[in-house]
Amino acid sequence: MTAADHLSRSALLYLSRQEHLKDWATRLRPFRDMASRFIAGETLEEAVEAVKALNAKGMTVSFDHLNEAVKTPEETRDEVLQYQRMLARIDQAGVKANVSLKLTQCGLLIDKALALRNAREVVADATRRDSFVRIDMEESAVTQATLDIVRELHAEFGEPHVGAVLQSYLRRTEEDAKALCRERVRIRLCKGAYLEGPDVAFPDKADVDANFVRCMRVLLDSGVYHGIATHDERMIDATLEYAAKQHLPRGAYEFQMLYGIRRDLQERLVKDGHPVRIYVPYGRYWYPYFMRRLAERPANLWFVMRNLVRG
Ligand code: FAD
Repeated sequence: MTAADHLSRSALLYLSRQEHLKDWATRLRPFRDMASRFIAGETLEEAVEAVKALNAKGMTVSFDHLNEAVKTPEETRDEVLQYQRMLARIDQAGVKANVSLKLTQCGLLIDKALALRNAREVVADATRRDSFVRIDMEESAVTQATLDIVRELHAEFGEPHVGAVLQSYLRRTEEDAKALCRERVRIRLCKGAYLEGPDVAFPDKADVDANFVRCMRVLLDSGVYHGIATHDERMIDATLEYAAKQHLPRGAYEFQMLYGIRRDLQERLVKDGHPVRIYVPYGRYWYPYFMRRLAERPANLWFVMRNLVRG
């Protein structure tokens, strides 16, 4: 990553947190057009169509309702209802999908007990439907609280119904991976998408990648069904190589990727017989999610800028 890339990544991640820009930005046509590559629609029905298309290609899905701007306990109730509607719709449509949930959506920044109560309702509903809730990981300020809640839910509902996410950019992650694997918590391993300081996160991409490989090995050695979430072919090759060395069969773990990113790679892995799950976000509040996707690949930003200039 060049110094310019580093700067635009930090700037985009800063902008992703500026709520006042959201309404203005989401009305701009070129911005909306570009976002539609990464977001499956603004409504549940649009997203269900995207899930059906992915299922038809042999991929499973983790569904995410976007809304990081939840401010009141009432709004957190709406999110719980939205997730219950999603779980019901998944059942009714007979699609192969589980759900991903952010604890800030459940009120983690308002009150930890409220977030636990709300998440508990979603996981209880998923358990009744024999489904699974992946608790997304957000900024490092909430890492510990998020893992505390995952552990409580895991103790109550068990391995098949709730799991965690770990980010390899965090210095603490290898230890978290070892501890969660001992407790048989299912993990999605990713690099991490937020703006973090060098005190908690590795500033150099090479260190983030090396930690990803170390943590991937911890996961694959654990005998638990985990998700390796990356579009980085070097990380994927390292995983395939390690799995072969350990004589792990295809299906001992799954690859996970984001909707709209590296579709060629998604299809190639399915063709080679690997389970692939696609993270499918939908909803009206797509601005911060979209900005994080721009930050991951500054070339995306120049594409948006070109279209904005052209009108
Ligand atoms: P990178 O080194 O960033 O990218 C490798 C290659 O992938 C790039 O060269 C490019 O070809 C392609 N690529 C990556 N991103 C883009 C993009 N936006 N647009 C176009 N091409 C791209 N992060 C969290 O912090 N918390 C979560 O809960 C979380 N959940 C995730 C769930 C899934 C299924 C996935 C795949 C990612 C998730 N992430 C999450 C995001 C993750 O942390 C990274 O920010 C993101 O995946 C990019 O990292 P990478 O591993 O693809 O590697």
